[in-house]
Amino acid sequence: MDTLAIVTALAYLVASVCFILGLKMMSSPRTAVRGNMVGAVGMLIAVLVTLLDRGIIDWWVIIAGLLVGSALGVVLAVRVKMTSMPQMVAALNGLGGGASVCVAAAAHMEELARGESIASSEIVAVAASGLIGAVTFWGSLVAYAKLEEWKSVRDPKALPGQMAINGVLLLACVALGAYLLVHPDAMWAYWALVAISSILGFTLVLPIGGADMPVVVALLNSYSGLAGAATGFILNNTALIISGALVGASGIILCQIMCKAMNRSLTNVLLGTFAGGTGPSADDVYGGKVKGASADEIAMLFDGAQRVLIVPGYGMAVAQAQHAVRDLMKIAAKKGAEVDFAIHPVAGRMPGHMNVLLAEADVPYERLKEPDEINASIDQVDVVVVIGANDVVNPLARTDPSSPIAGMPIIDVDRARNVVVIKRSLSPGFAGIPNPLFAAPNTLMYFGDGQKAVLDLVNAIKNA
Ligand code: NDP
Repeated sequence: MDTLAIVTALAYLVASVCFILGLKMMSSPRTAVRGNMVGAVGMLIAVLVTLLDRGIIDWWVIIAGLLVGSALGVVLAVRVKMTSMPQMVAALNGLGGGASVCVAAAAHMEELARGESIASSEIVAVAASGLIGAVTFWGSLVAYAKLEEWKSVRDPKALPGQMAINGVLLLACVALGAYLLVHPDAMWAYWALVAISSILGFTLVLPIGGADMPVVVALLNSYSGLAGAATGFILNNTALIISGALVGASGIILCQIMCKAMNRSLTNVLLGTFAGGTGPSADDVYGGKVKGASADEIAMLFDGAQRVLIVPGYGMAVAQAQHAVRDLMKIAAKKGAEVDFAIHPVAGRMPGHMNVLLAEADVPYERLKEPDEINASIDQVDVVVVIGANDVVNPLARTDPSSPIAGMPIIDVDRARNVVVIKRSLSPGFAGIPNPLFAAPNTLMYFGDGQKAVLDLVNAIKNA
């Protein structure tokens, strides 16, 4: 081993340690920001060492790539609305997969051009990169469109015999991979494998939808890591293997957390075996039973309230109401109430969405509680304020076995003494179903944009 190789190996080791420490630190809100920095430093080391060590292509091409990529990144970062971040994350996952497909092809073609014999393990890695990378790329694009709520793909769509079709596509990919193993120079087999995997990416994600999307997003995240790790084997790059494996493993852990939050098994989600129906119509659920209220009327509920619970959902992110919600917490606490936040793991549109927003508004982390903990004593809560949450508080999950969200554990706010729901209308949430909570006898609907409604409520409580 020459000196450069030793320095490179050591630098990759340091980078990998940074990734692992960064992940560990990100598991607690107190150290998360530092963890992010440590991970970024690790990535900087890995990128610099790779640039110095490998004479893969001309420096000018690398600089041109950096300029184009940075320009696109800046435009996207400035233009993308905060509420579109989940879609952006899905698209970035996909780009990781697409990059693995291209890098694997380029590295393999370069090896072929050198005319040296190629190890079987490396060809297996090339096929794996092509397969997982293409599934990730196209699957993530479908997930992007679903999160954007594009009408044509929003609802789950399955062809007759969908599972058999997926099985045949997967078998075809395996057969093409085996052919490549025997004939490493048959690049057509690689591209055919990529084409079929691309179709598989579509057919795997199209039938999934509604409340199952969090599981799919986590799974695609994991796939992008696995594709990267496979590419790391082809390039013989330890930092890429380790970082890809870390992304793959953390994606799977997240997937398990999401499955638990939905009370669904991964196979159940992937095979689309959930017999979800459409449930009752909005007219049946709401007809003449919904009671609206003003800020002043709701402010009176806070008089003498001992326990107040705030349940945020996607609408809080849309309204950017987290700072107003923090003010509500403060004023209710000043009035003598114990204020908690109930955070459902799938609330919002990406894992940890609510936690991030509330941390940004300096809501103390110990106030954030999991549904199980809150549900245990929710009947003793005097006032629940639901802000922009819908599916995660929908009692149909408990009561209607034909509902698309049947069986999903929810925050049982309907069992509290008084419930205030802040949203703009009676429109459904992501799962597209009505919510009997809005028509419950103990619920008051407080219609309006989340931020303005909460600020008005805070003022009304102050002046009460
Ligand atoms: P929902 O999507 O169920 O409901 C959000 C509600 O917010 C809507 O009913 C909407 O009603 C209201 N809203 C929107 N804008 C505003 C605003 N400006 N002010 C006030 N209210 C507003 O959200 P939940 O958080 O309850 O549930 C999340 C759903 O998303 C689940 O079905 C989950 O499975 C799914 N999902 C979650 C992902 C994740 O990783 N967390 C990823 C993908 C999907 P109105 O228009 O009347 O105001």
